[in-house]
Amino acid sequence: MRIQRCHRCSVYIHHPEPCCTRCGARDLGFEAVSGLGVVDAFTVVSRSFVPGYQETVPYVIGWVGLVEQPSLRVLSTISGDAAVRIGAPVRVAFEPVAGFGAVPVFLLT
Ligand SMILES: [Zn+2]
Repeated sequence: MRIQRCHRCSVYIHHPEPCCTRCGARDLGFEAVSGLGVVDAFTVVSRSFVPGYQETVPYVIGWVGLVEQPSLRVLSTISGDAAVRIGAPVRVAFEPVAGFGAVPVFLLT
């Protein structure tokens, strides 16, 4: 998983922007991150209008704070055998979704 990062002040930025959201620099790149994070918030989707997800309901979607910068949150589906809870540790994986290709999902660890 790669996340946009400012080369001047080192802040991670998501969603990608044309300039740094902290210092305004335009010297940005994409850097690999660990893919590890913590569930900050979640909800269970029981009726989906998103193509490729309609056959998978119910599913969990949530905000995950990445360990590299906990204030940076990524919105994604969350899956795993254990029940999802706030503060649960997760790791990223990529799963194919019809019409999208491989998309990031977070798995409970
Ligand atoms: Zn910056």
